[in-house]
Order: sequence, then structure tokens, then C-alpha cells
Amino acid sequence: SDLLAAMPLKFIPSKISNPGADPACTFPFLNGPLSLFDTPALDPSLRPIAPGAAPRLPPSHPCPANSPIPSMVTHHSVTGVIIFSLIILAIFSLLSALLVYIELFLSTFIAQSLSVTIREQLFDHLQRLSLDWHDRQKKGDLVQRVTGNIADIEKLVTDGLIDLMAGVLTLIGVATIMLSISPQYTLLSLAIAPVLFLVVSRYTGGIKSAAKKKARAAGKIADVATEDINALTVIRAFTLETRENRRFGSHVESHRDAGMRAGSLQAQFTPLVSVLVSLGTLIVVGVGGYVAAGNGFDLGFMSIAPFSIDVGTLILFLTYLKMLYQPMRDLSKLTTLATNAASGVERIQEVLDQAPEVIESSKPYTGMPKLKGEITFENVVFGYIKNRPVIKNVSIHIPAGRKVALVGFSGGGKTTLVKLIPRFYEAQSGSVKIDGLDNRQYPLQVLRQNVSLVLQEAVLFEGTIRENLEIGKPGAPMEEISDAARKANIHDFIMSLPDGYNTYVHEQGNNFSGGQRQRLAIARAILRDSPILILDEPTANLDVEAEAEVMHALNKLIVGRTVLTISHRLSTLGQVDEILVMRAGQIVERGSYRDLKRKKGLFASLLEEQNRYSADMGENEFEL
Ligand code: ADP
Ligand code: MG
Repeated sequence: SDLLAAMPLKFIPSKISNPGADPACTFPFLNGPLSLFDTPALDPSLRPIAPGAAPRLPPSHPCPANSPIPSMVTHHSVTGVIIFSLIILAIFSLLSALLVYIELFLSTFIAQSLSVTIREQLFDHLQRLSLDWHDRQKKGDLVQRVTGNIADIEKLVTDGLIDLMAGVLTLIGVATIMLSISPQYTLLSLAIAPVLFLVVSRYTGGIKSAAKKKARAAGKIADVATEDINALTVIRAFTLETRENRRFGSHVESHRDAGMRAGSLQAQFTPLVSVLVSLGTLIVVGVGGYVAAGNGFDLGFMSIAPFSIDVGTLILFLTYLKMLYQPMRDLSKLTTLATNAASGVERIQEVLDQAPEVIESSKPYTGMPKLKGEITFENVVFGYIKNRPVIKNVSIHIPAGRKVALVGFSGGGKTTLVKLIPRFYEAQSGSVKIDGLDNRQYPLQVLRQNVSLVLQEAVLFEGTIRENLEIGKPGAPMEEISDAARKANIHDFIMSLPDGYNTYVHEQGNNFSGGQRQRLAIARAILRDSPILILDEPTANLDVEAEAEVMHALNKLIVGRTVLTISHRLSTLGQVDEILVMRAGQIVERGSYRDLKRKKGLFASLLEEQNRYSADMGENEFEL
């Protein structure tokens, strides 16, 4: 009978013969739906008499009230029940294993897909944001947004999404059932809701602000690390290690403090939610128990009437109320994960909200992909900061094929002026025209294909020499590449390396000297073969010998192109067609080397000063 009592109703044979007084009677409380195991073998009276004949059914009538309850179930049916239970158990555990697999697989799949989408979108957006915007950003912090913040979002989806969904669904489901059992008691159990709401909003607010602080600190950590790793030489030279360790340490500590704050709030929050929820249960048990026991109350404004409940309903209600615990506790545990992800989303959104400042013209471009290279500045005004122009109303016309030098004091705006040509920045008023057309009318791709830059520092990427040169002309055949390298005076050097063109270039090309890097950049520009060439002090960082080699390479590069060269070695400018002298954002003098030298203006005095300086240093003046 213990076994019977423990068994769910439907697994119990519906008719159990009573070996005592009346073999044919049945117990009404056992008359559930016909069981699978209710075999005729149980009751000899059910066996057919002869093959084909109809079974003789026993008269079914309830057992007398005082007849003994059968004390055992036949051997047959116990085995059946056990086997059936085992099969059901096995099926359930297999099913639940399958569900766990699907859950884990799906949450990882969703998290990974989401993070790929966000990461790619963010990176693409970063590439489109203006250089002006990038100038103002901290590199490490940006990297942290692309890596760390997205990882936080990924973590929430992987570890929390299913719990979150299951929790919310369970809450809704259980609450609906509770409402259907007893709306009054459901309301009663919600008595703690205002306090719960207060606690939830206070704590989630606190955890959220800690999570934000933590994300910001993570950005700063990445910042200092990036900056210092890029400046290791200087840090060692100035023995700044201790200072930098302290700077790094302070951010690491504030990251820890924010993490601890979030953690300790979370540690208080979860049990507090449990306590409040059980308080709700206490109220229900108290009121329900009191009323169900037959007591009444009348508080004047409220009487027992709406709360009358019988014990069965109360117990059923309490069972469901108890089911609210787990999802609430689970959900409260997700707060930290969710707030981390939310502050990650916020930091990513900040970047995505930045409008790309260089916007492509909507008009379709119908011109030739290769331009002639005529450059015109018309009353161009530009400044990095509003109302503080760096370029003040500059107008110049440079016919295609002309070689022009831009000279002047440092900070005069030379670099800024040439950066307007490929539209790295946009004129605030006036316009920069190429071949007579405003450079904003060209698709960026076309415009930038037609402008080559050789800057003070050549930028090389990780990869082979060949790959680095190929950037100039993707898919160029080897002969063309080596031809360009020959012109750039670097072919022989490359061939002297054990791996030749397959030599590996380290990050930023730091396994090559400045002169070698510069000549590789020149070879790249030769391959690119664009009609406009901008040289921004390409030899400024080189020693005399390397400078001579680079100049030699440059002389081959400039043939047949419009050239704008910025140079502070005035004595090397004899061959250019025209020199523009810039001061404080304006062109103050222009003319040929000879004209300007004769004119005794700013250029002549700069030249004189430089020659005096190099004479002092024991260098010879270049003879032109
Ligand atoms: P030059 O090349 O003639 O030495 P630049 O064009 O580099 O001069 O700089 C002109 C002025 O613009 C300087 O006063 C400099 O401080 C400022 N400047 C240059 N680049 C930026 C930038 N990215 N953001 C803000 N100001 C800048
Ligand atoms: Mg400059």
C-alpha cells in the first residue's frame, strides 16, 4: 500500500482484486484511467474461457466500506511499473540532455553571431569616421570597445540569455496560474512588490553605475598599456618605469574597486530578493492559514469575505508561489552580467552614433578613374577647432605636372594644407578642386587612388616585403614590383636578404632602418602610379647618407606627376618649379628658388639662417 500511495494515480491498475472478502469489487479511489499494466492476467475471471469466445466480465461494484485494502500488487505489475518508470526516466533524462545541448549550442551560436555582427559593424564604422575624430580619440580605449565591451555582451548572451528568457517566461506562467487559482491571494502575495521594486531599482542602479565605472577603467587600462608599449624606448630612456607602473596601477585599482562594488552590491541583492519573496509567502501563509482554520476577521474596511479559502486551494496556491522563488533569484543573479553588457552597449553606441564626417557624394561619378592632377585651392579655410582656422583663405593653382615646394615655420599649416587634397579633412569654406572638380564630387576611392603620399614616417604592415609593396598595386606581377623597387633604390638591398621579397616585415616595419622603410614606401608609391604626389618631409628623420639615397629614389618617383613637397631643407629645392612660403595659415611668398632668394623676403632670411646653422655644424651648403 506504501507503493500504491507513492505511485501517480494513472500507473496504478484500475481494478485490483481484493483477495479478502469480495474478489470482484473495486476500490473507487483506484478507479483512475485504465492503466497500461492492467492486464487480464491480474484477474483470473477476466481470462477468456475458450478461444474466440467473449470474456466473461466480472460484475463491477464498489467494495464494501470496511473491506481491507489490498496489501500487495502482484509480482507481474510491480515489474511492469518499474520497467515503465525506468523507461520514462531514461527518456526524460535523454530529452533533458538533448535540451541542455540545444540550449548551450543555441546560446553560444546566438552570442557568437551577435558579436561578429557588432564587431564588424563597429570596425567598419571606425574606418569611416573622420581622421579628425580619430585624432581626438584614445587608441587603447577604442580597442577596448572593439574587444572587451563586445565580449561583455557576448558573455551575457552565452551565460544569461536562456536563464533570462526562462526566468521571465516562468514568472509569467506561474503568475497566470496563481491569478486563476485566487486573484485575491495573488494580490496579497504582491504586498511586498513596492518594497521589492524599491530594492531592485536601488540595487540595479548601484550595480549599473559600478559597471560603467569598471568599463571606463578597462578603457583606461588599455590606453596606458597601448601608449606605453608603443613608447617603450622613451620610457626606458627616461627611466619612467616606476611612474608608468603607478599610472597603470591606479587604473587597475579603480577597475578592481568598481568590480568589488558591483560584486558586493550583487552579494547583498540576491539574498535580499529571496528574503522579500519569502516575506510574501509568510503573509499568504499567515492570512490563508488563519482564515482556512475557520477564523474570521473584520477590520471595518476589510472583512474576511474576499479571503475565504479552503486548505486545498491554499496549499495549491502556495505550491505555485514557491515556484516564483527560483526565477526571481536567477534573474537577480543576472544583474551584474546584464549591467556589464549594458554599459558595453552604451560605449559601443557612443562610437556608432558618431556620424561619418566624410560623406560620399550621392551623384554618380561618370569621369575617368585616372585624373590629370591639376590642383586648385579656392579661398580655402580650415581649422581643427571651430573658429580657430589653421588654413586662412588660401588660394593656389597648381597645373598638372608641376613640382611645387611648400616651406615655412613649423606649425604654419603645411601638413594640414596637403591633407585637404585627398579629403582627409574638409575645407570649412572655399573648395579644393582636382582637375577643376571639387574633391567632394569624387568617390573617395577614385580621389584617393589618384593621390600618393610619402610621409615623414613610412607605415609598413606586418607581412612580407612583397605584400607591403603590393599595397600600391594589388595583384601586380613580380617584375613590376621589382622594377619599382629598383627605381626606389631598394631592390639590391631586398635581394641581399636571405628571404628576398619574402622577408617578413615586423609590426610597423621596425626590423628595417628609417631610410629602408622610406625607400620601400617610395617603391609602393611608384607602383601606385598616381598623378598627384605629396611628400611631407620624407627625409626629415634620416641621416645624411640615407637622405641622399631616398632623394635619389624620389627623383625617379616624381617624374611625370604633379608634386607637392614639404621640405625644411631649403637648400635642396633648386629643382622645383615654384616655392610657396607659408606662415600662420597663409601663403606669404611664392616664386622660383632664384626669385625668392633675390627678393630678400621671408624665404631668403630662412635660407640664410639655415646656411649659417649648417656652416656652424660643419656641413657644406648644397650648391645649386
Ligand atoms: P606644419 O606641417 O606646417 O608644421 P601643421 O599643419 O602640422 O603644421 O599644424 C598646423 C597647426 O594645426 C598647428 O598649430 C597644430 O598645432 C595644429 N594641428 C595640427 N594637427 C592637428 C590636429 N590633428 N588636431 C588639432 N590641431 C592640430
Ligand atoms: Mg608638418
